[in-house]
Amino acid sequence: MAEPSIFSRIIAREIPATIVLETDRVIAFNDIAPQAPVHIVVTPKTEQYRDVVELAAGDPELLAELVATARQLADEHANGDFRLVFNTGADAGQTVFHVHAHVLAGHGGLGEDT
Ligand code: 5GP
Repeated sequence: MAEPSIFSRIIAREIPATIVLETDRVIAFNDIAPQAPVHIVVTPKTEQYRDVVELAAGDPELLAELVATARQLADEHANGDFRLVFNTGADAGQTVFHVHAHVLAGHGGLGEDT
C-alpha cells in the first residue's frame, strides 16, 4: 500500500490544518503557503483520483461538488469572485497527487503575481 497523501493525513487529523468546510465527501482547508489573500485547498476525502482528469472521468458528480464548494467558499471568504486552479502533472506544479482545487480570491485575476 502506498503511504497516505498529506491531504489524507489532514483528513484523518494526523496533521493540523485550518479546516474551513467539511462534508461527507469533500474537505477544504487553508493552504499552508498562501499565494493570495484567500487560498483554500478543496479536495475529495477519497484519495483514489490523482488529478482532475481522472476525477472528471471517474466521478463527475464529485468534481461538480468540488466546484460548488469553491463557489460557497468564495462567497463566505471573499466577495464571491475567485480563481479555481487544478495543477495537473508535476511539470505544471502539481506536488500532491490527490486531486485538489486551489480556490484563490482577494485580488485581481490572471496576470497578477501569484
Ligand atoms: P499542488 O502544488 O499539488 O497543486 O498543491 C499542493 C498545495 O498543498 C500547495 O499549495 C501547498 O502549499 C499545500 N500544502 C502542502 N502541504 C500542506 C500541509 O501540510 N498543510 C496545508 N494546509 N497545505 C499544504
